[in-house]
Amino acid sequence: MKTHNFAAIALTTALLAGSGLAQEAASVAPSPPAPPPTAPRAPPPPMTITQVKPNLYFIVGGGGNSELLTTANGALLVDTKNLNDKDYGDLMTLISSVTDKPVKVVIDTHHHADHTGNNEKFIAAGTKVIGQETMPKILENYTTRLAPHTPAAPTTLYSKFMRVRLGKHTDARLYHFGPGHTGADTLVYFGNQKAIAFGDLLVMDPTVPNYDAGNGGGSLLGLQHALAESLKLRWDVAFPGHGGKTFTRDEVKAYKTKIDTLITRIKAAIDAGTPKEELIASLNTADLGWKIGGQFWAPPERVDALVAELSGK
Ligand SMILES: [Zn+2]
Repeated sequence: MKTHNFAAIALTTALLAGSGLAQEAASVAPSPPAPPPTAPRAPPPPMTITQVKPNLYFIVGGGGNSELLTTANGALLVDTKNLNDKDYGDLMTLISSVTDKPVKVVIDTHHHADHTGNNEKFIAAGTKVIGQETMPKILENYTTRLAPHTPAAPTTLYSKFMRVRLGKHTDARLYHFGPGHTGADTLVYFGNQKAIAFGDLLVMDPTVPNYDAGNGGGSLLGLQHALAESLKLRWDVAFPGHGGKTFTRDEVKAYKTKIDTLITRIKAAIDAGTPKEELIASLNTADLGWKIGGQFWAPPERVDALVAELSGK
């Protein structure tokens, strides 16, 4: 029985990872059904690197998106992709195709293993890995199907704001606006390039918004707040945590408007007395381009968290 479940989970995880849409699911999500034995297993698309602004690159594939800032004094990398040698090797090959300097600093946008998987390899190489101060505590209780073991915690922590310098012309600022996608989210603002990396606070449709409640410490209202705060900064390009394209400022505004609408509808359903068990299925979100449900929305502890934070507001 256990062997059967493991095989199904392993294959499904591999397929999700290959699709580039593998965000962290709740640890108690029901096991997905086994695919038919003859199902073709498409290889994941190759990891790619694209220059978006001067010295700023977008790296898609191999888990969550990464961003790379190159300087004469070394590079700054946002997120380290899935924990495996193949994705780490591909990442390093792409990085070395645009800079001959080492990665001096890694920023973790949050603890999920598709974003922090190769932290340990960077730490072993002497790279400083920076994350929000709640991350180690969240990682202590973190189990995941996305990685063979829990990713390494950051080596340097900050609370709400940190400026990272790699020489006088580098301006990377880390912001934590409170719990959102997780309890330890970091947005990375590139002041010189007028660009911002959201981690999984921003994901590309049709991937649904994902707040990791419970041990992950996420909050849907917090996600809304973080989007609002991000729009107070000056930038014109935004990097989503998943999805192969950057967002314009107007696209992020539109995304926040959809989150606002979703929250309004959930509150209305709760106020109308919709039973907890029927709440998620009762939401009509087709017009928003999202199929709300599944592993990110249906687990009971997430519904409990949603009702707790949206009741009576
Ligand atoms: Zn995530």
